[in-house]
Amino acid sequence: MVAARESKAANGTTQQVDVAVVGAGFAGLYLLHRLRKAGFTTVALEEAGDVGGTWYWNRYPGARCDIQTIDYSYTFDPDLEAAWTWSEKYATQPEILRYLGFVADRYDLRRDIRFRTKVTEAKWDEAAQRWQLTTDNGAPVSCRHYIMATGCLSAPKPPEIDGVKDFKGEVYFTGRWPHDGVDLAGKRVAVIGTGSSAIQSIPLIAEQATHLTVFQRTPNFALPAHNGPAPSDRMSLLQGDRATYREQARQSMAGVPYPQQTVVSWQLSDAERRERFERAWAAGDLVHILTQLWADQAVDVDGNKIVQDLIREKIRAAVRDPETAAALTPHDHPFGAKRPCLDTNYYATYNRPNVTLVNLRQEPIKAITASGIFTNGRSFDLDVIVFATGFDAMTGAIRAVHPITGRGGKSLTDVWAQGPQTYLGLTVEGFPNFFMITGPGSPSVLSNMAVSIEQHVDWVVDRLAALRAAGFTTMEPTETAQAGWGRHMADCSTLTLHRLANTWYTGANVPGKVQGLMPYTGGVGPYRSICDEVVSRGMLGFRLT
Ligand code: FAD
Repeated sequence: MVAARESKAANGTTQQVDVAVVGAGFAGLYLLHRLRKAGFTTVALEEAGDVGGTWYWNRYPGARCDIQTIDYSYTFDPDLEAAWTWSEKYATQPEILRYLGFVADRYDLRRDIRFRTKVTEAKWDEAAQRWQLTTDNGAPVSCRHYIMATGCLSAPKPPEIDGVKDFKGEVYFTGRWPHDGVDLAGKRVAVIGTGSSAIQSIPLIAEQATHLTVFQRTPNFALPAHNGPAPSDRMSLLQGDRATYREQARQSMAGVPYPQQTVVSWQLSDAERRERFERAWAAGDLVHILTQLWADQAVDVDGNKIVQDLIREKIRAAVRDPETAAALTPHDHPFGAKRPCLDTNYYATYNRPNVTLVNLRQEPIKAITASGIFTNGRSFDLDVIVFATGFDAMTGAIRAVHPITGRGGKSLTDVWAQGPQTYLGLTVEGFPNFFMITGPGSPSVLSNMAVSIEQHVDWVVDRLAALRAAGFTTMEPTETAQAGWGRHMADCSTLTLHRLANTWYTGANVPGKVQGLMPYTGGVGPYRSICDEVVSRGMLGFRLT
């Protein structure tokens, strides 16, 4: 810690630490805390001006979590849990950001974070057995271990449409929303995209704008959040026995303590299925509806189609104009194979007279000009364009540090030319002492990420401490272990319906990105057991030197 401060002052001289962390979101903050407690000198390098990660950058109207906040929280310290109370079932971005600031203050983390500092390159120095990091601001860093806590949804995808720079109005990106907010009153606004950020922001933008035009390429399934106070049944479970509740989350499939369903769809009558569905719809809970209807909903096309049809009915009931309702109804992917969204009045917003939906499947955008957007049928004069076009997920922020050079001068970009290869989603062969938090190959975005982040951080920091205690300097997975993990990932995914959807989980949203399902689909609890077994079997699949 002292070393970190001293070398920060000495701008230009290399900062020497045991462990460098990139990112100061949920993951980076917990890493700093754990590393310090384990006695490592450390620094976190963060491009943003403060802590928060996702919740620092995504300040668009309506930004909220979609996992209930009592579950989407740190659980490592019961005193921290006692010291913070969430005001809503799904907290807003400002409240989550306040929470992460509160955590940073409580553990005095900011003193080891270099803000407004982007890591631009990383190189393994074979002779020194250390990583050398280059930054765009201040001293380079030399570290024994290099941990990327750079986030799965932190690299916004650039717009694919020509002419954006010619547009004379205002342009905003949901993932980089201005800190002072944006006044949309009296303006003609376009939102491009209908993913989670769009679905959260569209109802609020429609309330402010003179007219809102939504440009949709692919409709998503969205479910009502029914936001409000945290539900009393979940609160009583949590407060009744907090330790058990948290442990059940850690052992669950998605990181939220719900039991696994054993009844399959065809064992239920139509009335029973509808009853289960209506209960889930009324609960306003993504994990509930994704996991609690029937056991075959995520693994069998027929079991899944029943859910899809029930949701389609809801969309038709909510949207008055049949043509708009049809355009908003997803038909190209199983429910859950693409991340569904939680909404507040999303579908009803299309009943407003000041909202127009443009279906880009029928009417593609031809150009953005100085005054607005031209499709092949119409022109839309606009004052503001909001891009809600998503992220280069899971690998975008990792690959943006370029090059990351491992053993023998190998670059990660080359090693991943055919898609990411990892062992456990945590490490890469040929890249000693390099770790990713919620990297490709881990459950990450298919889970409550707070739970997955804590598991990863605990595993990595415990391994570093054990390595040090045993007198080793490096750890790195073997080629065989990495290939085996790739095989296991593929086997797991063939049992799910993810293979039937082109999504950001598979890289399909980024032109030119190699396609393949990036998160591990075997579940949070089973994944944890595998990581633990690797340790109990003497660091199975790792080479220690
Ligand atoms: P991030 O929060 O993304 O932080 C990574 C940080 O690394 C960023 O601050 C970034 O600036 C920094 N960084 C990246 N590259 C560099 C570099 N080269 N140099 C320096 N700094 C760098 N997950 C859930 O489980 N539940 C939810 O309800 C949920 N809601 C979400 C809503 C939105 C709008 C979004 C975008 C994501 C949501 N997620 C949700 C996913 C969310 O990203 C994670 O839950 C979590 O916040 C990730 O934390 P992190 O620390 O791993 O990464």
